[in-house]
Amino acid sequence: MNLKISQTPYGNTLNCKGWVQEAALRMLLNNLDPAVAERPEDLIVYGGRGKAARNMEALELIIKALKNLEEDETLLVQSGKPVAVLPTHKDAPRVLISNSQLVPKWATQQHFDELEDKGLMMYGQMTAGSWIYIGSQGIVQGTYETYSALAKKHFNSNLRGKLNVTAGLGGMGGAQPLAITMNQGVCLAAEVEEWRIQKRLKTRYIDEIAYDIDEAIDKALQYKEEQKAISIGVVCNAVELLQRLIDRNIVPDTLTDQTSAHDPLIGYFPEGLTVEAAADLRKNNPDEYVKQSYATMAKHVQQMLELQKRGAITFDYGNNLRGRALEVGVKNAFDFPGFVPAYIRPLFCEGKGPFRWAALSGDPQDIYETDKLILELFPENESLKQWITMAQERIAFQGLPARICWLGQGEREKAGLAFNRLVAEGKVKAPIVIGRDHLDTGSVASPNRETEAMLDGSDAVADWPILNALINTAGGASWVSLHHGGGVGIGYSIHAGMVIVADGTEDAARRLKRVLHNDPAMGVIRHADAGYDIAKDTLRKHRLGL
Ligand code: NAD
Repeated sequence: MNLKISQTPYGNTLNCKGWVQEAALRMLLNNLDPAVAERPEDLIVYGGRGKAARNMEALELIIKALKNLEEDETLLVQSGKPVAVLPTHKDAPRVLISNSQLVPKWATQQHFDELEDKGLMMYGQMTAGSWIYIGSQGIVQGTYETYSALAKKHFNSNLRGKLNVTAGLGGMGGAQPLAITMNQGVCLAAEVEEWRIQKRLKTRYIDEIAYDIDEAIDKALQYKEEQKAISIGVVCNAVELLQRLIDRNIVPDTLTDQTSAHDPLIGYFPEGLTVEAAADLRKNNPDEYVKQSYATMAKHVQQMLELQKRGAITFDYGNNLRGRALEVGVKNAFDFPGFVPAYIRPLFCEGKGPFRWAALSGDPQDIYETDKLILELFPENESLKQWITMAQERIAFQGLPARICWLGQGEREKAGLAFNRLVAEGKVKAPIVIGRDHLDTGSVASPNRETEAMLDGSDAVADWPILNALINTAGGASWVSLHHGGGVGIGYSIHAGMVIVADGTEDAARRLKRVLHNDPAMGVIRHADAGYDIAKDTLRKHRLGL
């Protein structure tokens, strides 16, 4: 079959010499499916310039290598370019990927940009370069869980009658409006590029679009008053929306941001420029663009601090906006917390994180079968039941049908083995591929995000994600990746990914048992080591560690 990037193969016919290689091929192409990726024509999947392959030639070579790859060989990918196929064995990963790694002294955005210009590197973000991005559906439960934890902490239980302000409606940020309305709240989000809001309208992630800031604010206040869970995307710069709120003395109940601040050149729009003018400036005078970006980010953070002072529950949503503002002198930028220490870390301590799977058959019915199975496996888990029911009703599939579901230590291996049996018994039409975000319990060192404010001060210790990648390789994950700079930008993070295929065989069952045990265990061990009591309890309960 002659594959194009706009075509993800599905069904039961293999293009490769085994289902594991086939899964890698399908997930790579699924990452770039126009229904999934933000800018597939540039190989950009999401998150600023997060790419699936270095360039078209590299992509074609990866596809060719995967189609020819034997079951005792491993393909090596260096920053989006295939560099070797080496002999290994059946239980080894079929693909090993390293993206955007730089020796620490050289790990600056500027040096990375020089190397990228020379065609020597690519930015893999988190799941883009590790071929397990599944569109906004991949983040929506994490965003839902964050707002749900916030609602429990600050407002009894949900966001009913609360105004939630944010910005950035790209690949990941686009999940915010849906996650907020699923928690019963009103969402008002600023987005510079109209087409991004249109895309979210089409995929039912947002309810309304507005072009006038004051009208959008008035409508949002009306919905708040009427306690209606409706989301509005307004076409404007984040700083314009926040300034109007400040000028009109309107204080949102919650405030955050998911513009691509981690990338001042490609990801963030300075104020006062149209999209076209920004594109011109970015191309013709990148230094000036970056300067203006930083100035807007500083103002953006100052506005958030002002609204926080006036009473808005304000948090950073993992894009390093505070870090950027601090770089240009906003000394109190970190006065509002990151979302991990504020809301998510207790879940990480139980080994919980964004577990996900996709149906390689391409048939949504296969996902409904897995949903049924999940509910049978964990009948006591009420919030999981609520989540699966809501997801079935409200989340549109993008590309290969997929599901996301935060599962913890013990639960992931149970689910993985049950999926494998489903495949073996022919209850689904093709194998299931299982993966996760790098934003997970034991796979990331990122001091401005996942490992911000660790109890023992070990925020910047990056041995953990390296151990995570090594143990997943040793355990026999189907493909393993090690990245630098995801989420928060070059110099700020090191993180690892893993994907494993349930193809219904006994071999797969053994690998699934090992990998889906060890992978979250790394998170429990890491958090117990840092002194968290919940993690110590989980460690004892599951007999992990020494
Ligand atoms: P993306 O690049 O696909 O989208 C970013 C969006 O922000 C774009 O639509 C862009 O037009 C808009 N934007 C940029 N500057 C703006 C401004 N000043 N005002 C209004 N809109 C502006 O990125 P994404 O995948 O949505 O990720 C967004 C950020 O969130 C990234 O920094 C990413 O690393 C981070 N992230 C966070 C999480 C999390 O769980 N918290 C997960 C993944 C990614």
